[in-house]
Amino acid sequence: MLKIENLHATVADKPILKGLSLAINAGEIHAIMGPNGAGKSTLSYVLGGRPGYEVTEGSVTFEGQDLLDMEPHERAAAGLFLGFQYPVEIPGVSNVQFLRESLNAQRKARGLEPLSGGEFLKLAREKAALLKMDMDMLKRPVNVGFSGGEKKRNEMVQMGILDPRLAILDETDSGLDIDALRTVGDGINTIMRRPDKAVLLITHYQRLLDYVQPDFVHVLADGRIVKSGGPELARELEAHGYAEIAA
Ligand code: ADP
Ligand code: MG
Ligand code: MG
Repeated sequence: MLKIENLHATVADKPILKGLSLAINAGEIHAIMGPNGAGKSTLSYVLGGRPGYEVTEGSVTFEGQDLLDMEPHERAAAGLFLGFQYPVEIPGVSNVQFLRESLNAQRKARGLEPLSGGEFLKLAREKAALLKMDMDMLKRPVNVGFSGGEKKRNEMVQMGILDPRLAILDETDSGLDIDALRTVGDGINTIMRRPDKAVLLITHYQRLLDYVQPDFVHVLADGRIVKSGGPELARELEAHGYAEIAA
């Protein structure tokens, strides 16, 4: 589904990713862990097509297409979802409006009819119920005044409604209390643990991985993957720290 080969990227002319390779198949959940400043968020920004992140070498294909050649909205329409460490607030635009616009833009790019207001609300209600979310939250402006936990729950509803093929979630667990962590974990499992979907979970800590069991764990240090393994690698990292494992 996703194939990253020898990816090099710079931010403000500073090399950050230095030969990163990673392959993710449908049905798999991968976790990337690593010390602060390793380039984890840079990887998610590069995959999302954020301006200012320049790829200087290497390739990325998504479902066989050249991802780096696609505009950010084309990446989303192709089924890529990005969850961010710090979700943006959009005053004056309700979640319902925002999500309906986003979903319909993606449907249009796929040659599908837009959903009407009624059809969209029915879908939103279904997804909110599935994730045990409050519909009232969906009527509020996007993320405005939401607590850290609410933003992450909201991100799960966004993901449920947009129904991506591949979700890249950057530190979705940061700042969450135990209940919110469980909700997010359940959300990821409910929406994304399917044979035709895949997840790349970027996380600092092992704790989210207690709820979402990864198939593969990778250590990212200084811009490349320095070690890969199974779920046990996350526990080793937690016990021994990055310095020893990545050395
Ligand atoms: P991580 O998510 O693993 O903590 P990041 O990808 O956020 O790491 O950052 C990797 C490195 O890139 C850090 O050294 C950071 O300071 C640097 N960096 C990120 N954004 C910029 C920027 N806009 N200008 C200069 N350096 C940056
Ligand atoms: Mg960081
Ligand atoms: Mg980061």
